[in-house]
Amino acid sequence: MAAGAELGTKGFETRQIHVGDISAEDPFGARIPPIYASNAFRFDSLEHARRRFANEEEGQLYSRHLNPTTQVAEQRIASLEGGSEAIVVASGQAAVSSVLLTLAEAGDHIVSAPSIYSGTQIQFNRALRRTGIEVEYVSDPHDPEQYRALIRPQTKALFVETIPNPKNDVVDIAAVGEIAREHGLPLVVDNTIATPVFVRPLEHGAHIVVHSASKYLAGHGAVIAGAIVDGGTFDWAGASRRYPLITDRPAPDSPSHLERVGARRAFAAAARFTSVNDFGPAVSPFNAFLLQQGMETLSLRMERHAANAAAIAQWLTGRAEVESVDYAALPGNPNHGIAQRYFDGHSGAVFSFTLKGGRAAAEAFFDSLQLISKMTNIGDVRSMALHPATTTHGGFTEEHRQRLGIGQGLIRLSIGIETLDDLLADLDQALGKATVATS
Ligand SMILES: *Cc1c(COP(=O)(O)O)cnc(C)c1O
Repeated sequence: MAAGAELGTKGFETRQIHVGDISAEDPFGARIPPIYASNAFRFDSLEHARRRFANEEEGQLYSRHLNPTTQVAEQRIASLEGGSEAIVVASGQAAVSSVLLTLAEAGDHIVSAPSIYSGTQIQFNRALRRTGIEVEYVSDPHDPEQYRALIRPQTKALFVETIPNPKNDVVDIAAVGEIAREHGLPLVVDNTIATPVFVRPLEHGAHIVVHSASKYLAGHGAVIAGAIVDGGTFDWAGASRRYPLITDRPAPDSPSHLERVGARRAFAAAARFTSVNDFGPAVSPFNAFLLQQGMETLSLRMERHAANAAAIAQWLTGRAEVESVDYAALPGNPNHGIAQRYFDGHSGAVFSFTLKGGRAAAEAFFDSLQLISKMTNIGDVRSMALHPATTTHGGFTEEHRQRLGIGQGLIRLSIGIETLDDLLADLDQALGKATVATS
């Protein structure tokens, strides 16, 4: 049995290393959990195979929905987020789609915050729309009444992110959670950028948490992976809306996922054996192994990421070339109070700033970066920069970009854990080029 339950009361730093560890069972005494590169697993007998297929007995069968190496990462993420069970899938996109396809079907409706990750917006507006699921966005993520106003009988979930990129317009999770509770709806929170080091959304009224584990959870920029965490607190049986994949029997004589595993794990079981199994975004056990290795240092990395980011955000506010800095932890930022309340004054390490010289200044600055990598991706130990208006948000209309506050002078930074002075020196020389370009 993997280490988990007995570690439940231990500290975060202990759990990020030890929860889920299966190395005690290794016949050679290996200390690191082995990589089980096996797509399927043997049965002892016909009866054993029947029980596993009928879900009468939980256990290995086929790695599309369960693999022992992946389970190490799953148990660790569930523990760090404070959930009942986690599922690790092949990408963050797959985590988001698997959750919503478990909750909603054609004709159903989701209410979302507006400034969520651009790839998630594209998934909602293109792929989900084609399945007949409609996502509507509030215009002001800070106004709880706007979420309430969009809810209708077909609404099956609310969706927000803890620290949206690139504008750092953080959402009051408890205020949206309260609306979810009043309307009997599950609140799904993407916690990729804050990570459970800074906030555990399940403690503030969220019911399901998703991650792009490609980012901080893995931390090394080597894998694409995603995670789904079941908070275990939503009352599926008592809900006024119907969640048939969770509550309905697949056949008259076989139990529903809710009946089989109980309310605490019903969502995770349904997601694993319906959406994830059916669409098949299984993560490779090699990637799950790299994810689990990365998570061992999560809290240490996040402290350094946030310290570097706060220092850089503050330094940028003092620069003549810079018009504005969108970092919620800065005093005077409109989101400062929420960041203070939820993240203990931190605001992660992904944020943006806007250059006075518009597109020309942004281009000169970007092209001059040396230590800071010019690339998409966030949450790597390496610092990275991107120009959203021509990349992640390049396919959006000018009106849509303006609504999100993404102008031509805006640069997104994902601050890594390098030596602060080296990052400042690189930013300083690149800002110098931006001035030349516009003077
Ligand atoms: C990157 C990202 C995703 C998508 O994750 P992938 O692993 O790239 O598929 C989802 N949400 C947020 C907040 C992200 O940053």
